[in-house]
Amino acid sequence: MPEGYCVKCKAKKEISDGKEEIMKNGRRAIKGKCPTCGTVMFKILGGKAAPAPAPAPAGEEKKTENIPG
Ligand SMILES: [Zn+2]
Repeated sequence: MPEGYCVKCKAKKEISDGKEEIMKNGRRAIKGKCPTCGTVMFKILGGKAAPAPAPAPAGEEKKTENIPG
């Protein structure tokens, strides 16, 4: 079971009834409840759903762009 931080208990708790969700930004997260007080807990998982969103230029000459990140 994944662990999350309950703001109500102010402690780390195992997320009860946790379900994996994909957020709008493509990141995965676990949404569930605190087993003690029932407060909704949310744990963001590292990594992205897509392995590598590399926009490959199809055989064109490489352009030097400043990619933020
Ligand atoms: Zn709690």
